[in-house]
Amino acid sequence: MGDHFQTLVDLDASPQDAPRLAERVVAWLVAEGLVQAELLPDCVYGLPLGRMPGPNWHRAVAPQDVRFGPGEGLAVHTERTVFHGGQGTLEAVHCPRCAATTRLHDGRNMVPETWGPFLLAVDTWYETGAADVDCPTCAERVPLPDWTWHDDYFAFAHLGFQLWNWPPLTTEFRTRITGLLDGHRTTYLQGKL
Ligand SMILES: [Zn+2]
Repeated sequence: MGDHFQTLVDLDASPQDAPRLAERVVAWLVAEGLVQAELLPDCVYGLPLGRMPGPNWHRAVAPQDVRFGPGEGLAVHTERTVFHGGQGTLEAVHCPRCAATTRLHDGRNMVPETWGPFLLAVDTWYETGAADVDCPTCAERVPLPDWTWHDDYFAFAHLGFQLWNWPPLTTEFRTRITGLLDGHRTTYLQGKL
């Protein structure tokens, strides 16, 4: 048993947008009774404070999953963050320009020739907020956040709502949160520590 997490990531929020949108979503979640208003220590990983489930938390999950909850806290990330799927293998990445698939793993290990430039770019993006990788197939220079990751492994963004040890959120619930985000694109990552 490990700790499971799921993250709804806003892919388009700028560093300036993120706190305002976070506040809007949290206000809605609290008003609906899905999480508690009070920030508490030690109920999430990765941030010092989180919010515990509210009395109506079960409305965010499928009826058959209610017996697996409620889980722990909600962490709201409003800083530049490399969101990832935790465990599992990062097998490949897809170029948004030419749609070619670049394999990053050979079945046993990461492939240094293909993974190396991406790893470097992940570090650079985290430090500076910008990084590009040349596509090995079409040679286009593509910003790191634009690549499509196998199994939605990574998201490079400034706003993410991360729930710890909750049953999976329903699609309907995720759509309602997305509706509060000014028409931004979102992605949904699930992982385990
Ligand atoms: Zn390409």
